Amino acid sequence: MNHRLDGADAPYWQGLEQGRLLLPRCAHCACWLWPAGHRCASCGGIGMVWEERPLRATLYSWTRTWHRFGFTESLDLPYVSVVAEVEDCGVRLMGRMDDVRNGAGPDNPRIGEALVGRIGETVVGDDRIPTIIWSRAA
Ligand SMILES: [Zn+2]
Repeated sequence: MNHRLDGADAPYWQGLEQGRLLLPRCAHCACWLWPAGHRCASCGGIGMVWEERPLRATLYSWTRTWHRFGFTESLDLPYVSVVAEVEDCGVRLMGRMDDVRNGAGPDNPRIGEALVGRIGETVVGDDRIPTIIWSRAA
């Protein structure tokens, strides 16, 4: 059983596997909800609708990892992990930013810069986890 497919966020993972970013929105008050849940944190309503969002975002936060730790064997060091705020909905998602992986100084990511994403994967042991890989918007 794929553990990504049995929780409240299952449509997110299914969407990524189909090449689409799907995010949950409250069926009652229409606010965006992340992480996904079964009940709206704002109005208490039950029921989510999943809407496709474009893979466009602004960089909210980032960090560069220089040292190996468990389950990162498939990633070349160093690598950059980011939190990206998806355009027009405020949802913040984890991802990678590969085009600045080895960057230093002026090549560092800049908070607030525009990003475009594509859906790749991260290999962890025998698992291939769909991953949003962000790049600087042209
Ligand atoms: Zn609501």
